[in-house]
Amino acid sequence: MEKEWRCAQCDCLLGIDSGAHVRLRHKEAQYVVDGGDYNVIAVCRNCSAINERSGGRSSSSRSL
Ligand SMILES: [Zn+2]
Repeated sequence: MEKEWRCAQCDCLLGIDSGAHVRLRHKEAQYVVDGGDYNVIAVCRNCSAINERSGGRSSSSRSL
């Protein structure tokens, strides 16, 4: 399941978050961040706000 990752300040689209990885697109270039415990910081191209996202397993339910 994919959901849009938007800037917290201006709602500009930063990329696509599909849980296991994040897809970032800027014009012709496209980046995929993968590997479970990633940490991505995106600077909004519109308002320059810092948006941070960390990968997969730290979110939602973690039962041991
Ligand atoms: Zn923004």
